[in-house]
Amino acid sequence: MPPAHPFDDDKLREECGVFGVIGVTDAANFVALGLHALQHRGQEAGGIVSHHPEEGFNSARRFGYVRDNFTKASLMETLPGPLSIGHVRYSTTGSKGNTAIRDVQPFFGEFSMGGAAIAHNGNITNADSLRRELIERGSIFQSSSDSECIIHLMARSLQRTIPDRMEDALRRVEGAFSVVAMTRTKLIGVRDPLGVRPLVLGRVADGYALSSETCALDIIGAEFVREINPGEMVVITDDGVESRYPFRPTKSRFCIFEHVYFSRPDSILGGRSVYETRHQIGVELAREAPVEADLVCPVPDSGTPAAIGYSHESGIPYAMGIIRNQYMGRTFIEPTEQIRNMGVRLKLNVNRALIEGKRVILVDDSVVRGTTSRKIKEMILDAGAKEVHFRIASPPTAWPCFYGVDTPQREKLLAATMSEEEMRDHLGIDSLKFISLNGLYRAVGEAKGRDPNAPQYCDACFSGEYPVEPRDMIDQGFQMKTAAE
Ligand code: SF4
Repeated sequence: MPPAHPFDDDKLREECGVFGVIGVTDAANFVALGLHALQHRGQEAGGIVSHHPEEGFNSARRFGYVRDNFTKASLMETLPGPLSIGHVRYSTTGSKGNTAIRDVQPFFGEFSMGGAAIAHNGNITNADSLRRELIERGSIFQSSSDSECIIHLMARSLQRTIPDRMEDALRRVEGAFSVVAMTRTKLIGVRDPLGVRPLVLGRVADGYALSSETCALDIIGAEFVREINPGEMVVITDDGVESRYPFRPTKSRFCIFEHVYFSRPDSILGGRSVYETRHQIGVELAREAPVEADLVCPVPDSGTPAAIGYSHESGIPYAMGIIRNQYMGRTFIEPTEQIRNMGVRLKLNVNRALIEGKRVILVDDSVVRGTTSRKIKEMILDAGAKEVHFRIASPPTAWPCFYGVDTPQREKLLAATMSEEEMRDHLGIDSLKFISLNGLYRAVGEAKGRDPNAPQYCDACFSGEYPVEPRDMIDQGFQMKTAAE
């Protein structure tokens, strides 16, 4: 299995990326490129389905990176046609870390009016109860993925067209979903009513593309048209884009962590580049949490724009004090015990010549378990730093995400069990400051900060206020935030 991220065990992980194309020759090749650009959203496995008017539906699902599988001509030749969708995943539901190929999307269903394939980014929070109900009524599940519920709900719908059946199915589903689906002639995109996970529309030659992020439109030379609205379904055919709104309208709650960490910095979210927003987070952080120091260094790579913003605002010089080992491949990670113990050192190295004798501010995007932060601190001190100050580009992550992001259980989150001072002492650093929730809201463009009565974003992993009740998790014993907390 390829390494997912330089700090595999100490980051929240986005679990999926979706992509689809209609109206171009050999659409699957475009999808493979799109998925390659979305690889940061899931590295465990990927799949592509295509449809050709004469050859029908074809699919390929593989473990590993897109570039290692979907670049082979022998494989891509098996996916012909002008319509195709694909998915990259890191598992959030299903057999986590031990995925069976049957859990790899897109999923396919054969209905009386024809086949349909579905790729889903997000997490269905009532999947357990839906699954129980569907099994009792005779559905036979092939996978352990929550997304398969959508196919079974569609099979049970009495509607006459696939988009209508999909509407029916998705009205029963709670939680977060950005879906890209296809029939023989249609490319379909849907976002849940809160619009928790992203989905954008692009124009490519005479056709259209749907993607989790705009960076994947760029790679195929598609023009960004617009974001799919929360609660919107688009049905795209050769005749153009039809827009529908199948759900009861509600105020949107996009995932604020997409701005901080999940999305690629060259993507556009809410009309602004993610890079620019992260830079602004650094500016806010410098205003809220100044400290006297000699250098501002990012924890690569995701801390970089915020570190640059912090440096601009504070006037403290920016430096690449930590260098990421870009080509840390699988071969080297094949771990003997001795090599495994080197941990973070395999992935990051301190630029000793810069650090020695300096008071260093390290800017990172988040603190999850805190294990990586501790190791980085040790490396910086070993290199002779005089002081180490951490500045974090998100508020303390004190609650798990149930909307399609892999988070440890609440007890494993450092911020769930410790105050900021306790975390500072635990990490053994000179100071530790997180951006405030209001500061983060200002950085993403909400000039007045967070509206406590009607928050503009989902921020549940910071605030503990879940916009959709995580029903399955509550059934499993998860304790929601109490009024006293
Ligand atoms: S809980 Fe956090 S990571 Fe999950 S959707 Fe909400 S803001 Fe995003």
